[in-house]
This record gives sequence, structure tokens and C-alpha cells, in this order.
Amino acid sequence: MAPAGSGSRAAVLVVGGAGYVGSHTVKGLLAAGYRAVVFDNLSTGHRQAVPRGARFLKGDLLQPASLGRALAAHRFQAVFHFAARALVGESVADPALYYRQNLTGTQNLLDAMRAHGVGKIVFSSTAAVYGEVRTAPLREDHPKAPCNPYGRTKWTIECMLRDYGAAYGLRSVSLRYFNAAGCDPDGELGEDHDPETHLIPNVLRAARDRRRGVRIFGDDYETPDGTCVRDYVHVTDLAQAHVRALEKLDSEIQVDAFNLGNGSGYSVREVVDMAREVTGRPIRAELVGRRPGDPPVLVASAERARAELGWQPVFGALGTILETAWGWHRTHPRGYGR
Ligand code: UDP
Repeated sequence: MAPAGSGSRAAVLVVGGAGYVGSHTVKGLLAAGYRAVVFDNLSTGHRQAVPRGARFLKGDLLQPASLGRALAAHRFQAVFHFAARALVGESVADPALYYRQNLTGTQNLLDAMRAHGVGKIVFSSTAAVYGEVRTAPLREDHPKAPCNPYGRTKWTIECMLRDYGAAYGLRSVSLRYFNAAGCDPDGELGEDHDPETHLIPNVLRAARDRRRGVRIFGDDYETPDGTCVRDYVHVTDLAQAHVRALEKLDSEIQVDAFNLGNGSGYSVREVVDMAREVTGRPIRAELVGRRPGDPPVLVASAERARAELGWQPVFGALGTILETAWGWHRTHPRGYGR
């Protein structure tokens, strides 16, 4: 079905579209028949990650002039917003960076959207808005008590979106990802962070290079094997959720937020074991102390996303997530070729 929009194919401004989830979502948007314009400062993203068929504009949310030029260049139906610092540990060490980039950057974006009459946004939020929780699976109405600066910036942005919706009519969907993982099953796009802090790419690096091991951050949590439990969700499934959210923003939703996860929790040790199975390689794991800011368990109830957005994850099995990630990491030992 062709997307609703002004005459020809509707255009979406994808802020942060050269990053990991952003680039996979651009691919999903193009496949669904939208035009995509990527706006990215390439601080953590990669020019090579912008899919063919999307336009690329280099710019920065902290430089409103570049943003204004981007918004003036097309008639955008909506904005997808991925541009943020997104590492818990870094946010604990340098909160000023997080408040400036994430909060000030987002406010600049929302104000520029108002100035240019763009009234819809899909925002990349996170399970970190919930903080240390005792229930699993978690529903959207669970109290929000983020336990690190990263989560606090994301939750504050969700509050901003609600306030801008009430006052200015901005329509928004916040998508709270649990643990984004896996890579494009076609092998065109992958995950390339520097430094890499995420569990799955680090485990796969240890599978590729026998001299390296993976560190397990703590086994004294109140979980079945003592290591942290997370709900891993495939990045291509996340991309589909954004397209579904955009369709719903066109018709039904004013302001809403949805969890995106598979509803199954895996411990760090279970991920390492499954990676040994998928790769057929030995993976050396070394137990070290806890990483500050890590909640013990985060598992989603994504029932609302399924029922209200019609979201149907297709790469949900942890084995599939690891296989697609292994496909990319094995063939791209230096990521996009830094
Ligand atoms: N983790 C680990 N070793 C690593 C990276 C992560 O033990 O090299 C753990 C981390 O403490 C957390 C889980 O794996 O419990 C997932 O961490 P990740 O950074 O992938 O995502 P987060 O949950 O922080 O968004």
C-alpha cells in the first residue's frame, strides 16, 4: 500500500539515520514506499550505513541553522528521531554531554518542526526509562524511575513530547526499545560502534578472535544465574515498528508510547552459551564486577505494540538474532571499514 502523503511518495526526515537502528529503519521506510532524508552529524553513525535510495544531509541538532535548512528542503510528513548518545556508562561518567546532546538537541528539533509545520514524530526511546524494576514482563504503565542519566534524558524527552502534544498539537509515538540486537538479514547493514560496549557484538568479537574474551559484568544479581537478564529484539523488527507507528500517527494516535521487545529474557551467560552454539567457536568469558547503572532484569510486555500498532516481530528468536549479527560481524571485522 502506498503511504499517505502529499501527491507522490511521502518523505520522512530521519534524524540519526546513519546509526544502527536509524539505518535499518531507513531501509524499512524505503521498502515500504516512503522517501527518506537522513540528517546525521556522523559523530557515531556512518555515511556507508545510509542505504542507497535515501538522501543524506550532514548536520547537527545543536546547530539549528543546519536543521532549518534540512526541514525547509522538503515537505516532510514526519520526523523519525534517533540522534542521541545512548550508553549508560558514558552517561554516568559525563552527564553534561547527555543533557546537552539528548535534551537540548531534541528541543531544537521539536522547535524547528513547529517552525516548519511538521506535526508528527516517532521517537527512539528505551526500556531505561523504567529503571530498576521488580516485575517482568513490563507494561508501559509501570512507574518510570530511570536509574542513570541516559534513561533520565529519554524519559524527559517523552514528557516533552506529551507537553508539546497538549500545547501545540504535536503527534508523537515513543518506542521504548528493550535490547536492540542483530543485523540486517540481507547483510547490507550492521552494527558498528566505537568503542563497542554492547554484549552481543562483544561476544561475537570474542568468537572471531580467540585472543580476546568477553567480560561478564557481575554474577551477583538476583537472577537465576546471577547475571543480568535482558530482552533482545531484532533491529529489523524495530524498523518495522517505526513504519507501523508512522501509519498509526497518520490516523489514530495523538501521543503514545509502546514497548518493543519479545517478552523473553536471556541472561548474559545464556547469550554467551547460545553464541558458542551459533558460531561453533569457543568463547572465553571472564567474570568481572558489576557495571554501574545496570538494572538486573528488563523484559518487555509488547502486547500493546502488537495489538495497537499491528507489530509482528519476525526475527524474535535469540538464535536468529545471533545468526544475523554473526553474518555481519564475521564478514565486516572492521565494521563499515574505519
Ligand atoms: N554486558 C556484559 N559484557 C559486555 C557488555 C554487556 O556482561 O561486554 C552485560 C551488561 O552488563 C548488561 C547486558 O550485558 O547486563 C546487556 O548490556 P548491553 O550493553 O548490551 O545493553 P544495555 O542493557 O546496557 O542497553
